[in-house]
Amino acid sequence: MIRDFIYLKANTVEEALDLIDQHKEDYKVICGGQSLLILMRQGLVAPEHLIDIKSVEELNYIQFDEKEGLRIGATTTHRTVELSPLVLEKFPVLVHMEENLASIQTRNWGTIGGNLCHGDPAGDPGPVFMALNGAVKIASKQKTRTLTLDEFFIDYFETVLEEGEILLEVRLPPIPPRTAVVYEKFNIIKNDQGIISVAASITLNNDGLSCNDARIVIGAAAPAPIRAKETEKLLIGEKISKGLLEKAGEKASEEADPVADIHASEEYRRHLVGVLIKKMVEKAWEQAKAQVK
Ligand SMILES: Cc1cc2nc3c(=O)[nH]c(=O)nc-3n(C[C@H](O)[C@H](O)[C@H](O)COP(=O)(O)OP(=O)(O)OC[C@H]3O[C@@H](n4cnc5c(N)ncnc54)[C@H](O)[C@@H]3O)c2cc1C
Repeated sequence: MIRDFIYLKANTVEEALDLIDQHKEDYKVICGGQSLLILMRQGLVAPEHLIDIKSVEELNYIQFDEKEGLRIGATTTHRTVELSPLVLEKFPVLVHMEENLASIQTRNWGTIGGNLCHGDPAGDPGPVFMALNGAVKIASKQKTRTLTLDEFFIDYFETVLEEGEILLEVRLPPIPPRTAVVYEKFNIIKNDQGIISVAASITLNNDGLSCNDARIVIGAAAPAPIRAKETEKLLIGEKISKGLLEKAGEKASEEADPVADIHASEEYRRHLVGVLIKKMVEKAWEQAKAQVK
């Protein structure tokens, strides 16, 4: 049973921040409700005031600029991202990620902002945005700040968002030349959350043979999505080989910090990390190489 609450609707960012400020002693922001309503139904969250930001149209946008890159407003739904020709052209990995995220119904309601703020370590957008070197813009009535996605997630279902703050947008810089970004999750039920997920960004040198930069992110393998920084170091400066991929898989499974749950044991999750890392690094490498003339 959902406990009674006072429903308040905001139509602008200013209204949302005012309402939050007025009810800061006991409130929760709701957008698509795809994650929050489950927690409310289970009685895990029972706010006195529910502040609905789904109608804040000024946060519903996808914009691209060659210099600044892509900006996605917080109330933009997964489905809008998935169907955007602009996203398909500039950031195809996002379309692939969205096509495999939940059902169409959930993607029609669930938003990018809601997904990130829910802070689920098995969420799909977080690892992909991190691999893309993304940032988030956050605001409260008092201040606005911008943080990298690497800094945003703290722990299970916990982010850096402070009381009174809402997420406004995600910013993704343009993808550098000779770079490919790929993502895959391993799950038992199609489009369910991943038991393990991996996002990999590989940038090659001018020669098209050796790795100039790598951003490797693992989801569902720790209390929050993690950069596999030792694995990245291992790849940078190297040429691809079977041996290198093996080493990368081993290093990443050491870097992961998974738990056992009803879906998989800790050992199995570490194994999956190794398997997916090898696959994703090789795939990104091949796609980056195809861009070198
Ligand atoms: C059946 C099902 C399957 C799913 N499968 C997947 C999956 O495969 N992969 C995946 O990644 N997710 C999955 N999800 C989760 C869901 O898609 C996302 O969490 C959804 O995007 C949340 O967005 P929302 O707008 O519905 O958020 P809400 O439920 O409205 O809010 C979620 C949390 O974020 C906060 N919040 C929302 N917007 C903001 C904002 N702008 N600023 C500050 N705080 C905010 C809320 O207070 C709440 O704590 C699934 C959900 C369901 C129900």
